[in-house]
Amino acid sequence: MKTLIKNGYLITVDASDTCGEGCVLVENDTILYAGPEENAPQEKADRVIDAQGGIIMPGFVNTHTHVPMTMMRGYADDLALMDWLQNHIWPAEAKLTEDAVYWGSMLAMCEFAAAGVTCFSDMYNFNAQIARAARAAGLRAMIAVAVLDIDGGGDARLKNAEEFFDLVKGERRITAAIGPHAEYTVSPEMFGRVRDFAAKHDARIHVHVSETRQEHADCLARHGKTPIGLLECLGVLELPVMAAHCVYVSDDDMDIMAKYGVSVLSCPGSNLKLGSGVPRVAEMIKRGVNVSCATDGAASNNNLSMMEEMTLTALLQKGICQDASLIPAKTAVRIATVNGAAALGMSHLIGSLEAGKQADLIVIRTDGVRWCPRANLLNHLVYSGSDSDVMLTMVGGDIIYQDVRIMFGDVEEIKAKASQYAAKLFA
Ligand SMILES: [Zn+2]
Repeated sequence: MKTLIKNGYLITVDASDTCGEGCVLVENDTILYAGPEENAPQEKADRVIDAQGGIIMPGFVNTHTHVPMTMMRGYADDLALMDWLQNHIWPAEAKLTEDAVYWGSMLAMCEFAAAGVTCFSDMYNFNAQIARAARAAGLRAMIAVAVLDIDGGGDARLKNAEEFFDLVKGERRITAAIGPHAEYTVSPEMFGRVRDFAAKHDARIHVHVSETRQEHADCLARHGKTPIGLLECLGVLELPVMAAHCVYVSDDDMDIMAKYGVSVLSCPGSNLKLGSGVPRVAEMIKRGVNVSCATDGAASNNNLSMMEEMTLTALLQKGICQDASLIPAKTAVRIATVNGAAALGMSHLIGSLEAGKQADLIVIRTDGVRWCPRANLLNHLVYSGSDSDVMLTMVGGDIIYQDVRIMFGDVEEIKAKASQYAAKLFA
């Protein structure tokens, strides 16, 4: 099966940030060609899609999510992290069931598809249901089993993790990871066990780090080390680590992260909404840290728009550092795509439009008034575009969203089911 997407403007996000008019030829799940139409292989395509002058680019990689939290959207807003978590989110999560998680996850899949997200990296419980939803939708996913032992449930969660790793072994689009929740919910002993688990399974470690000033200070008081310093000391950073938030990491922390290749999963929208602060992304990049961006769960964002996160990442750094040259548009696009692929250890597979990579790509309509004049489509993408401009989302050659239509399910049914289960969580 060959698909030709023609008449587009390519933002390839390759090593040279190549942009320009062109087309993409896909065979089954793989990109055969991405470049100017005149150089394209003259092969007959089974399916031809006219991009109508719109942008063709790699899909967004949303590196830190808790997908079932779409069901908690709007139930607890305008609260600080700990109040929000302890008094609202954790009590609701205690009522979750397998079906609730599945339908909440399906709601997130619809939102991802419509927002051009082709891959997400999640941390939560009920992982089999999240995988089931990702499979049903056709999304690519790295799903981390959340581990915490503050409540004495550490052993059971590690056992869950073993089962989940077995469940998704060999799947093409779903990869398992291990997710020690954070320094304040996971004991040093458990971090050691998680490290051993990750080493045994050749898995990535997904962890919340220095999200709030209080968390960072408490860790210093408890251990005499920052969360990153503690993870280094416990040997966790010897393995591939994806660190969400990193709002309060110190300069030394950043150097440690660069040294070990720790990737940052920055969630500026969630950090702003929970009043946590603004991560020093520009400084991290300067010090050689790989920075990706993400939405976090929909209960603290309150949507799953990567275009918003990409824009926020750029604007916040310019604003807090009073330097408009920081995070130029092309860097913001890399943060939302190829850097996310690197964070997930998937650079060889996804993150850019290059022959041989998986056909995880999106087409963005550029005929709206916000895209006029067509002075610089890359800059428009970051500073003027919006999710509603996404016209097509493709994962591994499969179209999962096209022209405002979800291809993998009945959106009205998914919305109704998710709403029904959400009401029970907050009854
Ligand atoms: Zn989170």
